[in-house]
Amino acid sequence: MGQLFSSSNERHQDLASSFTEYFKKFKVGSKIIPQETIASIELSLSQGNMQGANTSITNALKEMDSTPLNVAVTGESGSGKSSFINALRGIGHEEEDAAETGVVETTMKRHRYTHPNIPNVVFWDLPGIGTTNFPPKDYLEKMKFNEYDFFIIVSATRFKKNDIDLAKAISMMKKDFYFVRTKVDSDLKNEKEFKPRTFDREKVLQQIRDSCVRIFQENKVEQPPIFLISNNILSDYDFQILMDKVVNALPVHKRHNFMLSLPNITDAAIEKKRQFLKQRIWLEAFGTDLLNMIPSLTLLMDSDVENLRKSMNYYRAVFGVNDASLQSLAKDWKVSVDQLKAKMKSPHVFETTKKETTQERLSRLYEEFCLANGHLVAKNVYVKELFYLKYSFLDMVTDDANALLREICVKNNLVSD
Ligand code: GDP
Ligand code: MG
Repeated sequence: MGQLFSSSNERHQDLASSFTEYFKKFKVGSKIIPQETIASIELSLSQGNMQGANTSITNALKEMDSTPLNVAVTGESGSGKSSFINALRGIGHEEEDAAETGVVETTMKRHRYTHPNIPNVVFWDLPGIGTTNFPPKDYLEKMKFNEYDFFIIVSATRFKKNDIDLAKAISMMKKDFYFVRTKVDSDLKNEKEFKPRTFDREKVLQQIRDSCVRIFQENKVEQPPIFLISNNILSDYDFQILMDKVVNALPVHKRHNFMLSLPNITDAAIEKKRQFLKQRIWLEAFGTDLLNMIPSLTLLMDSDVENLRKSMNYYRAVFGVNDASLQSLAKDWKVSVDQLKAKMKSPHVFETTKKETTQERLSRLYEEFCLANGHLVAKNVYVKELFYLKYSFLDMVTDDANALLREICVKNNLVSD
C-alpha cells in the first residue's frame, strides 16, 4: 500500500514539473496563460487533484477564447482610420465587408467592425474629435471610452493640440493609447519625386518623426513613442513594432486572440502565432490526458475527424491560407486558385481522392509526424494521435503561410522596381 501511494505521488510530482517545465520554454511575452494560473495548476497537480487541474486548464482555455478585445481608432477625417482598420482585419478596401475609405466624415457615430477570423476582436472607427467639436472628456464619454482596451490616435500629418488633449484625457481614465502616423509611403514617394538627387529615405523618416514630436515639446508634455506606418504596405516601417508593443502591454488572457487576429506580414509574426497555437494545443492535450485513464482506441472516430477538420480550417484562416484568402490573392495576381494551392500542403489534407480515405491519410500524416519528431512514449495513443495531428497541421499551415509570404515579397519587389 505504501509503495502504491508513493508511486502515484511520484506521478503527481512528475506531472506538476512537466507542466511548469513546458511553459519555461516560452518567453514572458509569448506565454498564453498567466504565471499565477500556471502556479495554481502546478499546485493542483502536485496534490494529485487531477480534476481540479483539468478544470483550471479548461477555464483558462475558455477565458482565452471568449474574452473580447475592443480597439478604438480615432483621428481626423482623412487620416487613415478606416484604412488602418481594414488592414488590421486583413480586408482589402474594395471588399464587401470593408470599412469605407476616402469618405468625408459626416456622422458623429462610432462604427463597429469585427475581425473576420476572430470575432472577439472588435475595432471601433470613431469620428475625429475635431468633427464632433466636443471637449476631450465629453468626447470620450460620448464614445463610451470604458468599453475599449486601448486607443490608437491616428494622424496623416503632424499631431495637433487636440490629439494631445485627447491622450491626456485617455491617460486620466487609465487607458493605454498609441500615436500612429500614417501615409509615410506617400511622404517618401513625394520626397523622392521632388528631390530625386538628394533623397535619403532614413532622413525623411527622421524628419517625419521630428515634426511629430515638436507639438509635444511645445506643449511641455513628455513625448510618447510615435509609430510610422503605411496602411498600404504593413510589412514596412513601424507596424510590426507597434503590434509587438500592443501585444506585450495587454493582459495575458487577451493576448491570444489579438495575436491570432494580426496580419501575416512577416515570418516573425507567423512564428509568434505558431508559438501561441502550439501552447494551446499542448494545454488541451495535457488537460484531456489528465482525465483519460484508459489507454484504448487507436483509431480516430468520426467526431475526431470533424474536430481535426475544424482545426485545420481555423489554422488556415488564421494564417491567411484559407480558400477565401487564396481566392482574393488569385484574383489580384490573375492566376487560378488551383495554381496557388498546388504549391501548398494544407488545402489538400481533407480532399477526397481515390488513393486513400481521409482516415488513411490522417494515419499516414501521424506516422510521418512521429518519424520526423521522434517516437512517442504514448500511454494513451488515442488522445496523442489527435493532438499530434493538430501539431502536424500547424506546421503544415505555417510552412504554407511562409511560402506564400515569400511569394508576396517577390511580387511586391517586382512591382516597386
Ligand atoms: P479616415 O477618414 O480617417 O477613415 O481615412 P481613410 O481610411 O478613409 O483614408 C483617407 C484616404 O487616405 C483614402 O483615400 C485612403 O486610401 C488613403 N490612405 C489611408 N491610409 C494611407 C496610407 O497609409 N498610405 C497612403 N498612401 N494612403 C492612405
Ligand atoms: Mg473613415
